[in-house]
Amino acid sequence: VGDSAAWDRETKSICPFCGVGCQVSLKSRGDRIVKVDGIDGPANEGRLCVKGRFGFDYIHHPHRLTMPLIRRDDAPPKGLNVDPGDWSSVFREASWDEALEAAANGLRGRGRAVAGFGSAKCSNEEAYLFQKFIRQGFGHNNVDHCTRLCHASSVAALLENVGSGAVTATFNEIENADVAIVIGANPVENHPVAATYFKQFTKRGGKLIVLDPRGQALRRHASHMLQFRPGADVALLNAIMHVIAEEDLVDRQYVAAMTENWEAQREHLRGFAPEKVADLTGIDAETVRDVARTFAGARSAMIFWGMGISQHVHGTDNSRCLISLALMCGQIGRPGAGLHPLRGQNNVQGASDAGLIPMFLPDYASVLSEDVRARYADLWAGDGGHAGEILAEKGLTVTEILDGVHAGDIGAMYILGENPAMSDPDVDHARAALASLDHLVVQDIFLTETANYADVILPAAAFAEKTGTVTNTNRQVQMGRPAVPPPGEAREDWWITTELARRCGLDWRYTHPRDVFGEMKQVMNSLSNITWTRLEHENAVTYPSLSETDPGQPIVFADGFPRPEGRARFTPAEVVPADEVPDADYPMILTTGRQLEHWHTGSMTRRSAVLDRIEPEANCSLHPATLRRLGVAAGGHVRLTTRRGTVTLMARADRAVALDMVFLPFAYVEAAANLLTNPALDPYGKIPEFKFSAVHVEAAEAV
Ligand code: SF4
Repeated sequence: VGDSAAWDRETKSICPFCGVGCQVSLKSRGDRIVKVDGIDGPANEGRLCVKGRFGFDYIHHPHRLTMPLIRRDDAPPKGLNVDPGDWSSVFREASWDEALEAAANGLRGRGRAVAGFGSAKCSNEEAYLFQKFIRQGFGHNNVDHCTRLCHASSVAALLENVGSGAVTATFNEIENADVAIVIGANPVENHPVAATYFKQFTKRGGKLIVLDPRGQALRRHASHMLQFRPGADVALLNAIMHVIAEEDLVDRQYVAAMTENWEAQREHLRGFAPEKVADLTGIDAETVRDVARTFAGARSAMIFWGMGISQHVHGTDNSRCLISLALMCGQIGRPGAGLHPLRGQNNVQGASDAGLIPMFLPDYASVLSEDVRARYADLWAGDGGHAGEILAEKGLTVTEILDGVHAGDIGAMYILGENPAMSDPDVDHARAALASLDHLVVQDIFLTETANYADVILPAAAFAEKTGTVTNTNRQVQMGRPAVPPPGEAREDWWITTELARRCGLDWRYTHPRDVFGEMKQVMNSLSNITWTRLEHENAVTYPSLSETDPGQPIVFADGFPRPEGRARFTPAEVVPADEVPDADYPMILTTGRQLEHWHTGSMTRRSAVLDRIEPEANCSLHPATLRRLGVAAGGHVRLTTRRGTVTLMARADRAVALDMVFLPFAYVEAAANLLTNPALDPYGKIPEFKFSAVHVEAAEAV
C-alpha cells in the first residue's frame, strides 16, 4: 500500500464508501491499484479519510468472485455455511451463458412472485436499469434498496414538508453559517471528510450544537453538547421550538411568506415547555433555552442529521421536527442555511433519484399517477415486457419483501450488491427467508453472507473497475472511471443486468452506461443540463444545474418549495415511545451503527489489509462504570441478549456511551448486531428501529 514509485497510470474516480463522495486519483500499475490520493473534488478539495486512502485493496482480495457460480445438485441445505475462500462443495463454476440462463429460468414469467433488491453501491445507470428490470420485466414495483434501512424516514418527511427528498444545501455551505446543529450523526467516524469542514467552521468562530444520546469526537469542537435520553428526540426538539415560539424568536416574515400550517404547529408546541419534558429528555430547561436562543439568533444556520434521527419508529417525526425548526427560523434557501440529512452509501442519493424504491419511479414520480405510468409505457414501449402494465400500486419495501417470502407470496429474488443476511433487523428472520426462496440470484463482488443462500451467483466488477455516475449527499453527480479491469470473468453490473433482462424477454440494447444515462435524462428533470460529456470533462455537476455552463446550485428553495403554492409545511410531531422499552429482563438499551474503519456489513473493509489490521475484532462499547458494575475489564467479553438473539464479543470502555447503553457496530459476522435488533418499523418511512432495542448485558468468556 502506498508505494508511489510503483504506479504508472492515474485515473480520476470517486471513493466507493460513503456519501461524502470524495474524488480520488487511483494510481495503478498493470491490473493493480497501488495508491489512492484525494483530488480537488467539490466535496473534498483533496481530502480523504482512512477508508478512502487505505481501504482500496479489497478489490484485489483472493475472495473476489471471478466466475459465475451455480449451486451444485449435491450441495448441503441452504444456510450460512459457505467458506468464501473455498465454496467448491456448494457451488460449481459455470459459463456466463449457462449462469445467465439458469438465473433467468428461475425468474422468467413469475410476475409478482419475483422481487429485487438493488444497490446504493452501484452507479446511477445501474440503479436505473435494476428498477426498470423489475418494473418492466415483471409489471410491479417490488424493488427497493438499502435507503429503506438508512434515510427512508428522512426522505418521507422531506417530501411531505418541503417537496424534495434531497438536501437543501451542500455540507460545504457550513462555511457560510454561524450556527450548526448536528443531531443523531457521528460525522467524525461516518462522514469523516465532511467532519473536517465542521471542525474548520468552529475554528473560525461558528457555534456547533451537537445533540446525541452518545457522546462523540465532535463534542471537543462543540459550543453545546446535549447528551439526551435515547429516543427523546421529538420531546427535545419540540422543547427547543417551544422556547423559540414562546420568546417570539420566530422569523414571522418567512413563516408568513413561505410556509403553511404554522398556527397548528405553534399550538402543538405549547405542551412542550422544557421544564415539563426535562425528565424525559434528561436535559435541564436552561440548557434547552440556551440552545433555542443560539439557533434562533443565528444569521445563518444549518441542521445536519444521520441515522440517530432516522432509525426509530418515530424517525419521520424526528425529521419533521428538524424541518419545522429550520422553517420557523427561516433557515432554508440562503447561503449558510439549510437542511442536510448526511447520506450514508456513496450512491444512496443517486439510487433513490433513479427510482430504486417501491413507491416512486425516477425523480420521485409516484407509481400511483396514471400520467407517470403512461410516460414510462411510452418510454419503454420498444423494449417489450410489461412497460404498459406496471401496477398502480406501491411495491413492497425491503423488510416487507422478506415478510412476503415467509408468507409464500414471493418465491424468487434478484439481489444486486446488498447483504440482507447481515443488514436486516432480526437477521435470523431475513436468513430464514433467503433460505426458503426457491430461486435466488445474487450479483456481487464477494461471496457475501447473502450469497451463501444463492442458486446462481453472478460475479460483478468493483467500483474502481467500472464506468458510471454516482450522486453524493450534496446532490453532486460525479463520474466514476475504471482504473483496472475486473478480475477473471467478472463483469460490470449494467452489463449483467442487461444480459439477464434480454434472457427474460426484454429487448434491451444498451452498449455503454452512456446509453442508459441518455434514457434517464428523458424522464429526470434533475439531470437537466447535465450531460455525459460534461461529466467526462468536469467530473462533477450539482443538480439542479440551470444551464450547460452552470456547475449547479449548492442551495435550493430560495424562492419557494416544490409544493402547492410554493409553501413548505409544518407537520406537528407527537412523542412516540420506542417500540421496545427496557424492563427487568432486558434493562439496557442497545444501539447499533458504524465505526470509522469498517463499512456497513464489512464485506469490503474487512478484506482491506490496513483497515482490518486497525479493527480486526468484533467489539462493542460500554461506559467504564457499566463495565465495573458487570465485573468486566476493558477488553474483556460480554454477552448481549435481546428478545431475538445473543452475541458474545469484546467490550471496550467508552465514556461517550451512556450508563444504560451499549453501542454495537454491525460489520462483524461473528457477532452480527442484527441478530439482536428490533424489526419494528416507522409507519411512514418503513425504516426499522436499529437505534433502540432492549438488551440484557452480562460478563462472558471469550468465544
Ligand atoms: Fe471515502 Fe467518505 Fe472517507 Fe471521503 S469521507 S474518503 S467518501 S469514506
